[in-house]
Amino acid sequence: MIAGPTPLEKRLLRLIEAGGPINIAAFMALALGDPEHGYYMRREALGAKGDFTTAPEVSQLFGEMIAVHLALVIERLPPDGPLNLVEFGPGRGTLMADMLRTLGKLRPAAVKRMRVVMVETSGRLRDLQRKAVSHLAEPEFHDSLQTLRLDGPVLAVGNEFLDALPFRQFVKQGSAWRERVVIAEDGALAFGLGDAVLGAADLPPVCSGAPEGAVFEIAPAREAFIATLAARLARNGGTALFIDYGHARPGIGDTLQAVRDHAPAPVLAAVGLADITSHVDFAPLLAIATREGCATGILSQGEFLLGAGILQRAGRLGAGLDDSARENLRQAVERLAGSDTAHGQMGSLFKVAAFAAGAAASGGLSAPFAGHGLPVNAGNAIDWA
Ligand code: SAH
Repeated sequence: MIAGPTPLEKRLLRLIEAGGPINIAAFMALALGDPEHGYYMRREALGAKGDFTTAPEVSQLFGEMIAVHLALVIERLPPDGPLNLVEFGPGRGTLMADMLRTLGKLRPAAVKRMRVVMVETSGRLRDLQRKAVSHLAEPEFHDSLQTLRLDGPVLAVGNEFLDALPFRQFVKQGSAWRERVVIAEDGALAFGLGDAVLGAADLPPVCSGAPEGAVFEIAPAREAFIATLAARLARNGGTALFIDYGHARPGIGDTLQAVRDHAPAPVLAAVGLADITSHVDFAPLLAIATREGCATGILSQGEFLLGAGILQRAGRLGAGLDDSARENLRQAVERLAGSDTAHGQMGSLFKVAAFAAGAAASGGLSAPFAGHGLPVNAGNAIDWA
């Protein structure tokens, strides 16, 4: 139980009492990123002891399969010159370590010339990330893509990063969609409706006929991020993979949620002590990347991992383990790739979106995930010895 308002709740109440209601995007930016009390700035968020477990923390197999995909892409890029591996929101650094270790085996020459970049706002997490990869690389740290200069092809990855970027909610009221805001009411935070409305041009067809009180979400910060990155990819060559809980088609629904101690928590209680997320609507992001000159593709996490050869790799790893370790590995594969959503399996809820430079800019990089599965199913034939 939490005794009284958190320091961040008090700060938000003062802010709202002085300046008026704030929208969900501003609320989220402060709940997660307030320099003093923000969730990512203070909490041990990730892992078994934290509030939620992400795919890289479930098993090394996750990072290995991403590395398989990147290895296939590297094959089609120029064999020398600059090459950038960029991770957005690297958490504890586990995914980067697994990717670098695997690429070191599969593409050692490429790793030698690779510039390793971590885009991370939390100083506390940067320390963990630096430690996690110190035996493999000396990463550079940046606050945002905007301030990052990149020469040459880019391999970009972000797991559960897009869902941490602020989004806005609009609630249907009569014929208008009004912005959902956070207000101060009787000394506590509460939801209300603000003055901003969403114009008809911003509403996809799925919104017409929505019932009174329906919620529609947009994420301008996510869209701006993808537009910037896709334009760079189209110019420099390379690919980006973003993995998140989300959907490939736009939908109606309130996906704002707080997670604490591996369980859902009330969004406006324990602000700064719980993670705040939403489901990612990938449809506008894919459309924006296409507009910026990228080829795009989207698979469920299960399809992606199976296509990259997770079963073969697990078989190989498991052969050297005792029974209980092998059983743990089997459970990790099911958790990552299985589609039993009710039992916490991530395979169908999570999606892997890929953006790649179009053929012209990259010297022939084909559409990501062309046909079915991965660009080439060669992932299944990788020699893990
Ligand atoms: N990718 C990791 C962590 C996911 S949690 C994993 O899968 O385990 C989200 C991560 O994004 C955290 O590292 C958080 O500090 C970082 N983050 C959140 N907002 C960010 C922003 N605007 N710019 C850069 N990093 C951000």
